Amino acid sequence: MERYEVVIIGGGPAGLTAGIYVARSRLQAVLLEAAFPGGNAALTDQIDNYPGFPFGVSGPELADRFRQQAERFGLKIKMAEAKRVTVEGDLKKIETDQGSFLADVVIIAAGVRRRELEAPGERELVGKGVSYCATCDGPFFENRTVAVVGGGDSAVEEALYLAGLADKVYLIHRRDTLRANRMAQEKLFANKKIELKLNRVVEALEGQKSLKALQLRDAVTGNLERLEVDGVFVSIGMKPAADFLGNLVELRDGYILTDENMRTSVPGVLASGDIRYKEYRQIATAVGDGAIAGMEAVRLVEKLRG
Ligand code: NAP
Repeated sequence: MERYEVVIIGGGPAGLTAGIYVARSRLQAVLLEAAFPGGNAALTDQIDNYPGFPFGVSGPELADRFRQQAERFGLKIKMAEAKRVTVEGDLKKIETDQGSFLADVVIIAAGVRRRELEAPGERELVGKGVSYCATCDGPFFENRTVAVVGGGDSAVEEALYLAGLADKVYLIHRRDTLRANRMAQEKLFANKKIELKLNRVVEALEGQKSLKALQLRDAVTGNLERLEVDGVFVSIGMKPAADFLGNLVELRDGYILTDENMRTSVPGVLASGDIRYKEYRQIATAVGDGAIAGMEAVRLVEKLRG
């Protein structure tokens, strides 16, 4: 079993920033990432609100810069999916699909996952027209007709990105006002390829081999409508990726409760980034959380070393 002073679970902006801090302090640390470094930020086409990039930066580039910086200070990054975390005396045991790790301090930065519509037909058509990531799957729908479901920043950004590829983009939202920021909304309203379908709820998805149409219900009149589309991008928010923790730490609404130093209810277990119970989930706030968790981990390890 590999033994470290610090194990970081999750390689998004929070985990990589924590990694920069602990690696710079020469702690023996490893970061475990289940999918790809960068987290959800790496799936964003264009990031305009992260300081230091006056003309914006692509998600993959920003994520790669975080990774390079952490590795420059010697942070080890391993591809492994955490399955369980338990406390064994003063140590924490992290079981993964690539074996187990022991740590004095664990930083949980596993982030959030896309929420599903849970409408009939959705599961069966994933990869056959149903997607949760426009930057990943958008290019398959060049010159086709697609829909985006949701009214937040992600949905509007995905609709704008897809409008650069598809012939026609419907934005389907369950209310008559969007939640997305004003600037994004202005861009959306100005885009001729995007048609808004407000007050609409997706009742079902039609198609056998591939998606053919969406059944929509008007939330005000109750009328049903069939909307033919080649693809649908579900962008209705996130849920915490905290299942692997069981009841290890105290949660609220599924998110991890921490104090302002990122300490959870269990000594030596820190949490940072989107998985934390908080109001604002941005790359900049995740980076702030990660820096605090990194510094707190350094303080805890130095105390243990005496
Ligand atoms: P979000 O802000 O939680 O928005 C989710 C949207 O999906 C809402 O419009 C919500 O409708 C709708 N929705 C939720 N459940 C639904 C359901 N079952 N059926 C239909 N619609 C449903 O999620 P997000 O857009 O993924 O953003 C997550 C966080 O990341 C936010 O804090 C956001 O500001 C941030 N973010 C920021 C940026 C940026 O700053 N550039 C970019 C992306 C994300 P209601 O409005 O009716 O609740």
